[in-house]
Amino acid sequence: MSAFSLQMPLVHLHRCRIPRVGPQRARALAAALADFLGLADPQRVTVEDLLLYLPLRYEDRSHLARIAELRENMWASIEVVVRVTGSYAVKGGQLTIFELSATDETGQIRAFWWNRPWLERTFPRGARVILYGQWRYNVPRRCFEVENPDFEVLTDEDDVTAAIHTGRRVPIYRKLGPFTTRLLRAIFYHLVHQITAENAPETLPEETLHRLHLIPRHEALRQIHFPDDETPLEDYNEARSPAHRRLIVEDFLRLQLALGLRREERERSPKGPRIRVDDRIREVVRSILPFRLTEGQRHALREIVRDMCSPRPMNRLLQGDVGSGKTIVALLAMVVAVENGYQAALMVPTEILAEQHARNIKRLLAQTPYRVELLTGSLRNAEKRQLHEALARGEIQIVIGTHALIQEGVRFHNLGLVVIDEQHRFGVLQRAELIRRGYNPDVLVMTATPIPRSLAMTVYGDLDVSLIRDLPPGRTPVRTFLRTEEARPAIYRFIATQVRAGRQAYIVYPLVEESEKMDLLNATQMADHLQRVVFPEFRVGLLHGKMRPAEKDDVMRRFLAGEIDILVATTVIEVGVDVPNATVMLIEHAERFGLAQLHQLRGRVGRGAAESYCILLAHDLTTPEARERLRVMVETTDGFKIAEKDLEIRGPGELMGTRQSGAPIFRIAHLVRDRHLLELARHEARRLLARRSQLPELAPLLEHIRRQPQYGLTSIG
Ligand code: ADP
Ligand code: MG
Repeated sequence: MSAFSLQMPLVHLHRCRIPRVGPQRARALAAALADFLGLADPQRVTVEDLLLYLPLRYEDRSHLARIAELRENMWASIEVVVRVTGSYAVKGGQLTIFELSATDETGQIRAFWWNRPWLERTFPRGARVILYGQWRYNVPRRCFEVENPDFEVLTDEDDVTAAIHTGRRVPIYRKLGPFTTRLLRAIFYHLVHQITAENAPETLPEETLHRLHLIPRHEALRQIHFPDDETPLEDYNEARSPAHRRLIVEDFLRLQLALGLRREERERSPKGPRIRVDDRIREVVRSILPFRLTEGQRHALREIVRDMCSPRPMNRLLQGDVGSGKTIVALLAMVVAVENGYQAALMVPTEILAEQHARNIKRLLAQTPYRVELLTGSLRNAEKRQLHEALARGEIQIVIGTHALIQEGVRFHNLGLVVIDEQHRFGVLQRAELIRRGYNPDVLVMTATPIPRSLAMTVYGDLDVSLIRDLPPGRTPVRTFLRTEEARPAIYRFIATQVRAGRQAYIVYPLVEESEKMDLLNATQMADHLQRVVFPEFRVGLLHGKMRPAEKDDVMRRFLAGEIDILVATTVIEVGVDVPNATVMLIEHAERFGLAQLHQLRGRVGRGAAESYCILLAHDLTTPEARERLRVMVETTDGFKIAEKDLEIRGPGELMGTRQSGAPIFRIAHLVRDRHLLELARHEARRLLARRSQLPELAPLLEHIRRQPQYGLTSIG
């Protein structure tokens, strides 16, 4: 009897009696998988985690081609014997080619690889290998050849197991630490044969399987590694086989159920006395407003205030393009909360932004009796303690700070509204945590980067969405140019002209993690060079993340006051910074930035009435992806289009990023690829939750979801 179970720790895999897997290998596999999943502790990786390590693609080796059957441009696997191998240098030694010639009974082929000299050792003469790739006929050599093919070397040891690797449809895996596709395939082969309906019990209700035409879990886990013969292999390769569909829907369904539970949790806990808006409050709001709200702002504010007046806590996402004026909307909501006797907190991702908001809000609220305070990590302890006490006593009405605000156990007297600005990733606010601490405030989240609506609905599935579509009047769209190094002198001349006309400019340098110090040096040296050599008659300032908050604040204040003409900065200015007189944004190494970041950076200009310019200076345009990104930037200033493009190019990676818990939200599902299944899952989740009392089989699944940290639920039901 095998000890197989899905929840068995992978470090015990040897108990499943898999050939060539002893305790040592089991440990190595657990370590490699933990590493891949970003989990710190290999002990906690399970057999199920391994089974969800899916093939990269599938290959049909049930009929290996013979060399005589190859045709021009055909993709095929062949099994051949290696005859001659060799490496040689090309391009004056910059590149090497390793090549081999090999035969089967029907002919001879050539295969070659760029820059992999070590392959010499991989292919001893006489070895039997499988090569997979696209075949082309080489006329002078009179044989078919293949460039950089995938390969597998068949060793003697494999003879016994050859049936696993050929003569069937086979999975191809991404190498996992030291585990090659071949080794993984052998392990999976033996593992999936041990899966049964009993040891991999169904997780979804029977009626869901019927309704959505899903295959049972145990079958899906088996087929996803070793495809059945009925389904076309393309379906597997495009992740739409029955096995894929079943597991993808389950992924989505779990998230949708979690979001449903989260909504219930929020609505169950009351939020205290209701908020009301009367004429007096309307008058206060009017007196604060420095300008007429746009139609979009007015609409969003109405939706927000309506939520605040309802007895269930608000959970709303405010989307609006960069510069659409989200801050003032949030501020007015805070005023409503404060006028109703509540405290409001505004949380932002960086201290610079916190300082900017604090400055603006204090100015706008100068005529009110409210006490507005900035609470950041850089305050001296004594000051911090005083502010903490004042907050707890309810003497401070509005507090502004970074996320630390609600995470470091700050106590509020009566917290009614939390606004989270420039939220890149979702879920960072764990309402559960707030509820545990006795608060259930209204929450307003504002996104830095617009998120395509289809996605927002899912990712923020338990949030209501307000959208500001218009920009404040008088804005002219920023003009964007893509330039290379040759244009630098002309760019500098252009900046000088702008500054002489009374405008200001940003010059931004990327910050690459591995060499943060060096980039810092670059920005510092560049600022110095620009001041001394290029722009001696102007005032050049420097802003980077390693400066003390007081210094940063000082630089920002001087830039805002027009005492600095040109601000050299790393990406610390990326989000939210608002200096309407700045009209030029020069981005160095623009190819290194993601689309969302570029859009944010460009959003720092074009905030006043004057024509503004964004210059993307590219140093390396070799990757098609970088070219595509920069092209999109030049073509459009519409943040929603850019977000859609970003998704297309890059996938939802950053957006979906792993959460604090480190656990990815989806194992199998891919938000963009599988979006057609999302709606299905949402619908089903709603249906199941509504009928939960008649569905005892749903309980274990819900219980399991509650215990998953990535969904951010309070674990007690
Ligand atoms: P974002 O939505 O990117 O956070 P901000 O709230 O920083 O945008 O607003 C951008 C700029 O537009 C600010 O200078 C703000 O004062 C100004 N602004 C916002 N709303 C209006 C409006 N209705 N009329 C004129 N200016 C506005
Ligand atoms: Mg903003």
